[in-house]
Amino acid sequence: MTTTTEEIQSQAHVQKYTRNQPYHCKVLVNELLTGAGSEKETRHIELSLEEGMTYLPGDAVGIIPENRPEAVDEVLKALGYTGDERVLDHYKVEISFEEAVRTRLAIGKLMRGAVTQYAKLAPGTDGLKDMVGPDNKARAEEYCWGREFVDLAKDYPGIVTNPQQLFNVLGRLTPRMYSIASSNKAHTDNVQTTVRVVRYESHGKDRQGLCSGHLGERAEVGATLPIFLHANQNFRLPEDSSAPVIMIGPGTGIAPFRSFLEEREVLGETGDNWLFFGEQREQLDYLYREQLQAMHKSGVLKHLDTAFSRDQAKKIYVQDRMQERSVELYAWLERGAYFYVCGDATRMAKDVETALLDVIAKGSNGTLEHAAEYLENMKKQKRYQRDVY
Ligand SMILES: Cc1cc2nc3c(=O)[nH]c(=O)nc-3n(C[C@H](O)[C@H](O)[C@H](O)COP(=O)(O)OP(=O)(O)OC[C@H]3O[C@@H](n4cnc5c(N)ncnc54)[C@H](O)[C@@H]3O)c2cc1C
Repeated sequence: MTTTTEEIQSQAHVQKYTRNQPYHCKVLVNELLTGAGSEKETRHIELSLEEGMTYLPGDAVGIIPENRPEAVDEVLKALGYTGDERVLDHYKVEISFEEAVRTRLAIGKLMRGAVTQYAKLAPGTDGLKDMVGPDNKARAEEYCWGREFVDLAKDYPGIVTNPQQLFNVLGRLTPRMYSIASSNKAHTDNVQTTVRVVRYESHGKDRQGLCSGHLGERAEVGATLPIFLHANQNFRLPEDSSAPVIMIGPGTGIAPFRSFLEEREVLGETGDNWLFFGEQREQLDYLYREQLQAMHKSGVLKHLDTAFSRDQAKKIYVQDRMQERSVELYAWLERGAYFYVCGDATRMAKDVETALLDVIAKGSNGTLEHAAEYLENMKKQKRYQRDVY
């Protein structure tokens, strides 16, 4: 694929602000998309950009979160420190221990490597020593499941004798990526995302995801957040603006497709667009309903197919809707349609691929082997692109 002038410009800005030198944006909008009573908490977030920072549909925004204050306090207490102690960060810059725990160290989801390093501080500790080494991998994994560093510190107290040791035990707090949900051409001074807040209960405690929790609870309008733009050359609208596009985007997977559709709408591109969106319940979880229905009405979306899994006894997913529409889907593929998938990598993306192979096999009156070849060919032509996580 050739690199367009737009892409070169976009990359130039991506390089200006990076994960190590982020842009400090302002939160402009942070609103709940899901209704009261939904099992999901999905938010629409808009972040300010400096003049000249640009992005393309398919790109992502990296957000650098902070650990929540209560979690930081809990860690400091469990280790017996006030937080005023001085430590050197990863770049040997002196900061307070509180700042280190809040902004530099991954105190969330416990990793096996952290258990190993922690155990090294006090060799021979009962319980801890049984979670070290290749033979004890399964036991250590089981212990880590659903736990955070604070659980380890409480279960095996008195082991950290100098706050600096924590830099050897814990990984670095890393940014999280979010697919961009807006078109830069429609929104020149901001970038928008669709974030599902991760909340769960484990070992008798309410927990939350580091970055989505930050966005869900501590990123009110006016707050500042360090961000950077991340180009994704492997997820791009067709260069041919008249090519048809099929988008499978359940849940937060809708995000890049909102960007695609806004872009095609703003540019008046003539290619047909077909979106499959899925969630649990139409009343509570239909993300961007009004905008999508308006696009359907105006013709920007030729087809809008939805699958709400919990609205009837038998669960219906996007892949089931694909099967129901297999004749027309195959006809679109034969017309040269580009096929995009975004969202859950663990199950959805595989189920969608299986359904796609089935649609091709049925449509071509061929075997699954033939369908696999057909799909391979689509991949070579960059007509099958996925952004799954
Ligand atoms: C290219 C890309 C694009 C993405 N786009 C989006 C997007 O548009 N929208 C979006 O919302 N996300 C998106 N993500 C995912 C996002 O980057 C984060 O991974 C997600 O928000 C979770 O991060 P967190 O910091 O909130 O949670 P973390 O602190 O990383 O915690 C998540 C971890 O918590 C643990 N966990 C979760 N539930 C449970 C449970 N029930 N029991 C035990 N443990 C559990 C799991 O180990 C899980 O891995 C994208 C990811 C990538 C790579």
